[in-house]
Amino acid sequence: PAAAAARLDLDGNPIAPLTICMIGAGGFIGSHLCEKLMAETNHVVYAVDVYCDKIRHLVDPAPPHLQGRISFHRLNIKNDSRLEGLIKMADLTINLAAICTPADYNTRPLDTIYSNFIDALPVVKYCSENNKRLIHFSTCEVYGKTIGSFLPTDHPLRKEAEFYVLKEDESPCIFGPIVKQRWSYACAKQLIERLIFAEGAENGLEFTIVRPFNWIGPRMDFIPGVDGPSEGVPRVLACFSNNLLRREPLKLVDGGQSQRTFVYIKDAIEAVHLMIENPARANGQIFNVGNPNNEVTVRQLAEMMTEVYANVSGEPPLDEPMIDVSSKQFYGEGYDDSDKRIPDMTIINKQLGWNPKTPLKDLLETTLTYQHKTYKEAIKRQMSQASAS
Ligand code: UDP
Repeated sequence: PAAAAARLDLDGNPIAPLTICMIGAGGFIGSHLCEKLMAETNHVVYAVDVYCDKIRHLVDPAPPHLQGRISFHRLNIKNDSRLEGLIKMADLTINLAAICTPADYNTRPLDTIYSNFIDALPVVKYCSENNKRLIHFSTCEVYGKTIGSFLPTDHPLRKEAEFYVLKEDESPCIFGPIVKQRWSYACAKQLIERLIFAEGAENGLEFTIVRPFNWIGPRMDFIPGVDGPSEGVPRVLACFSNNLLRREPLKLVDGGQSQRTFVYIKDAIEAVHLMIENPARANGQIFNVGNPNNEVTVRQLAEMMTEVYANVSGEPPLDEPMIDVSSKQFYGEGYDDSDKRIPDMTIINKQLGWNPKTPLKDLLETTLTYQHKTYKEAIKRQMSQASAS
């Protein structure tokens, strides 16, 4: 075929092929990013992770048309001297590696802090020392609680945007006390953000920080007992999927009153793709990536997922589809919660022209169809074995 027309960046310049060192490429976000880069660009990816289950179709072995485009490097960034070599050979490093399931923050606070701060340090250092660009994945949790959450419940100011909309360059980071170990994650992420920002200010590191707001979709987390630890507690999408697959009531923590905005993983990946290919617009920025139009309470999410799953599976919902549990029962001592998370979209809009597209209903349909197809048979087998023994 005739050579494809060169793709252009947002300023009309041809996009040069990049070599990307992607740390944590085998996770939920990494797997979608690898697929995107393989399908739509000619960049080369060094996929670094301790597992490759979610990208096996891309790397084990790489299909013929991707030979030379993607390679898997099984290594732990905690203790592997190959890491610096890979960063040096790449133009850009993307760091996705971290413990990021809330059930771990208060029960494994040391692992959480080490994983999110200490283990990320060498990555930042190698990028800075070798003048390599870094895209670092942080979290919307660095905002902590909203200012409005400290007002009385019926206070009119709670309805004013300035009391809850989260802005990258203006909103404060508001965490609970140290005994609320939930905030170990947010605090570690905040400190690594500050360190990266300081490397930019003092040593000229070219960085972009991404703050994901509840990205969800296929391959997120794990289904306990099927492809993850049987006692493990994943994030809410996988918890509720697991309950629906097993025909158990969905558990609403502390009444399910917390609010979240959910964005479809494929929309969010578009934003990351734009950051990769528009360094002049992305360097030095912190970006919220979320969908402010998809806000629900956790209770509303449970209701929607119950309804959508009934359509997908053809099984009617349970008579009692939800039950309340306390956070202490569900997560243990030291849990706390973010009340509300509405991302301000001004910066990402201005710099990258990005907007999320997929409404919550549509993304739940796609995701629950995937969950049903992927897990239903395995769960049936497992449940019939358990009842036979
Ligand atoms: N949650 C819940 N039931 C579950 C799992 C989570 O009610 O089975 C709640 C949790 O307390 C929080 C929200 O759902 O208010 C989102 O939790 P998630 O683990 O997805 O992460 P977060 O958004 O807090 O980072």
